[in-house]
Amino acid sequence: MAGARAGGASLIVLGYHRIAAPGFAGGDDGSSEPCDPGLFSACVDRFDEQLRCLKRQTQIVRLEEAIELAGGRISLRRGSRVLLTFDDGYRDNFDLAFPVLRAHGVPAVFLIPTAYAGTAHAPWWDRVAHLLATARRRLLNLVKHGQPAIDPPVLLAHLTEAAESTAPPSQRRRFLDWDEARQMQRAGMSIGSHTHTHPLLSQLTESQQREELATSRHLIATELRQPPLAVAFPTGARDSFTAVTRRLARDIGYRAAFSFHGGVNRRGRTDAFDPRRVGVDPQSGERCALRLAMARATG
Ligand SMILES: [Zn+2]
Repeated sequence: MAGARAGGASLIVLGYHRIAAPGFAGGDDGSSEPCDPGLFSACVDRFDEQLRCLKRQTQIVRLEEAIELAGGRISLRRGSRVLLTFDDGYRDNFDLAFPVLRAHGVPAVFLIPTAYAGTAHAPWWDRVAHLLATARRRLLNLVKHGQPAIDPPVLLAHLTEAAESTAPPSQRRRFLDWDEARQMQRAGMSIGSHTHTHPLLSQLTESQQREELATSRHLIATELRQPPLAVAFPTGARDSFTAVTRRLARDIGYRAAFSFHGGVNRRGRTDAFDPRRVGVDPQSGERCALRLAMARATG
């Protein structure tokens, strides 16, 4: 591309999931809700710091500009641009992330599984994490309370009991609802699709994939009176989608599709239907790690 410095990064897409209440340090979130603690990318105060840091060092762009950059239709003379994305549409995206983004005056993209919008649905990963945590606590108690020898069948019985006695998921709403999505949209945020029911697309037939991608797009277009520009493939690992998935996403009308395998998007080597995303977790959220990632990206 004319004017492009060979090898430089043009677009860094940061991938967030959930934002935790202040003080979260990466372990259990302290609530009694069944949830996967590994889904928390940062606590809200750390997220605030990250935005401060990013604003000082780079420019955070809207989805439309990121698509132009990823498609190679515009290029930068130097430096990079950052796009912020959130997967899964948990309620904390609205309650905790959105106010911080608004206070900083920066945009982000929220990619939501449309079947879960406004519901208390406990997705399988939250339930599995909760089961494992419950079973682990029971196992620890067994060991701590000094039984001289744990008979394997007894241990198994205890673990089974722990798993089966898990409290049913609460009815508290877990995912952001359409009214909240509209408020975010009015404030300059983009709402995209994360399919309808969050399946591993590569495991589905072509027509099932089409259904997932099209239903979600249609629902968002209806609820927000604007079709979504982007979709994020669930899990986003290299084997979670195929060439067929990417073609379908394009045919259905999406202009970008996000995977979740790491890396930055270098000039002239970027694909709007598979731009690299850098996952943010409590460790990478450390200010210096972010700075390092930026330095690496801008080379
Ligand atoms: Zn997801």
